[in-house]
Amino acid sequence: MAIIKVMDEILANKIAAGEVVERCASVVKELVENSIDAMSTDIKVELKESGVKEIKVTDNGKGMDKEDAVNCFSRHATSKLIDENDLFHIHTLGFRGEALASIASVSKVTLTTSQGDIGTIVKINGGKVVSVSNGDARRGTIMCVQDLFYNTPARLKYLKSLYTEMAHITDYINKLALSHSDIRFTLINDGKVLLKTDGSGNLLKTIKCIYGVNATKKMIEISGSNNDYEINGYISLPEIHRSNKNSMITIVNGRIVKNSLVNRCINDAYHSYKPDNYYPIVVLNIKVDTSLVDVNIHPTKMDIKFSKMEELTSLISDLIKDKITKKTLIPHIEERPVIKERKVYEEFTLDFDAVNEQEEEYVVNTDLIEEFKDNIEVHEDVKDKLPPLYPVGLVHGTYIICQNDTGMYIIDQHAAKERINYEMFRYKLSHPNGDTMDMLIPLTIELSNNEFLILKENMDILNEMGFNIDEFGVNSIIIKSHPTWLTKDLENETIKHIIDLVIHKEKNFSLERFNDHLAATLACKASIKANTNITTLEMENLINDLRECENPFNCPHGRPTIIYYSKSDLEKMFKRSGF
Ligand code: ZN
Ligand code: ZN
Repeated sequence: MAIIKVMDEILANKIAAGEVVERCASVVKELVENSIDAMSTDIKVELKESGVKEIKVTDNGKGMDKEDAVNCFSRHATSKLIDENDLFHIHTLGFRGEALASIASVSKVTLTTSQGDIGTIVKINGGKVVSVSNGDARRGTIMCVQDLFYNTPARLKYLKSLYTEMAHITDYINKLALSHSDIRFTLINDGKVLLKTDGSGNLLKTIKCIYGVNATKKMIEISGSNNDYEINGYISLPEIHRSNKNSMITIVNGRIVKNSLVNRCINDAYHSYKPDNYYPIVVLNIKVDTSLVDVNIHPTKMDIKFSKMEELTSLISDLIKDKITKKTLIPHIEERPVIKERKVYEEFTLDFDAVNEQEEEYVVNTDLIEEFKDNIEVHEDVKDKLPPLYPVGLVHGTYIICQNDTGMYIIDQHAAKERINYEMFRYKLSHPNGDTMDMLIPLTIELSNNEFLILKENMDILNEMGFNIDEFGVNSIIIKSHPTWLTKDLENETIKHIIDLVIHKEKNFSLERFNDHLAATLACKASIKANTNITTLEMENLINDLRECENPFNCPHGRPTIIYYSKSDLEKMFKRSGF
């Protein structure tokens, strides 16, 4: 009878393994979170073949006694730390025992653990305890999982390439290291160290270990609070571009969480300082009363809902905007060190710059970090965002070369004029003054019946902007007057464009977004085209107008308007000075 029961349990565990143990990263996650719960301050993850052959997690936590060491693999084992007030202890809500049991049922596990006296070694194959013996007295736990899915070949095939498995694991350990900068993490694959943090509790040092020296130089500290939320962390200058949102990290009460609204709010705060489809590096630590959050309790997800979302997003938005609008954001040309060729990770699809950059140097130099901080501080509170600049000439009818005492600047004339126009149009659109102008020849536009209906429904948007529009026969309209700020000689084209935008506007329409989009499009149309030779006077006017801008550093699409070579950059490049 007892034997049948055990067999049933093994089968149940194997079935559960299909759900809980999706890939090597799920095993790593489970083991490392156990180590964190055991109060470890030093956690080492060693992998063979991206974890497929072996995953070994060594910690210095409080360890287990013999009874717990055997029982922790049973399906109904639960952690002792049940605190119902702590919503973040998802593990204590039932998944914990299940997960370890599931892992053990599809692999060969050796557990070595001790609380500081006689230790215990438990060996389990495919969910069956093979042996229990005494081990040494080193305090802590070593959990070694070998040959994952060896007894479920179908699952083994389901694992993606070693690169994908490794990418998931690295991503996960990076995030854990960021949310626990007071724990020392080491990640090793096939003998190669991929991450090593110092556990000093200094978040910026952890950021450096993960994103590299150059990115760390471009991180700004933020902190602030309101009645409900307390936030601190680091955000990157807008010139840091990542092709995915992976480096936008939200930590709530010490746990990594996901919330798409928070991500969108961060990205919106950078709007027009960087291209919208590139993402910054952001690590936000949010402290909040747990009664204000609702966590989706699923072992592989960490979705969270905030009940005072407005309060949170406006705080995040204000903190980020406050920092980036006060900075001098001219991309600075640096002579980049030759980066080692990508070898192991070239097939990774995820963003692996991080791993490569930090491969070059593992030792964290505290002085260096202080130095970065100083450098960042120097740029703060610049009164004029752009210094006075004097045009020297125009290259290819496109780039204005300028100089001042400190170095050489190159301005993209189209992007610069586009920024100037954009701020002007945005102002005009958000401060309608009612000034209109009659059209010399009224413009008639014929629409499809569908378009005509949509336009009629949204006529007030156009009226408020200052257009005088009437119906004109079947599915046609006539425009008799328009606001005064339309670009001269481009009136008809602009009106058609605005009407098109109104007809095709998004479902969840926001006037602010609409105006912003419209201002950016009009700004581009009204800007100087490339290959246009402008005069020195026109260059001077352009520079002066650009200096008046709220953000002179980017065009409305987030591309740079200006780049800078300092005198010493130039001297270095011509080898006039030592380095
Ligand atoms: Zn443009
Ligand atoms: Zn642009």
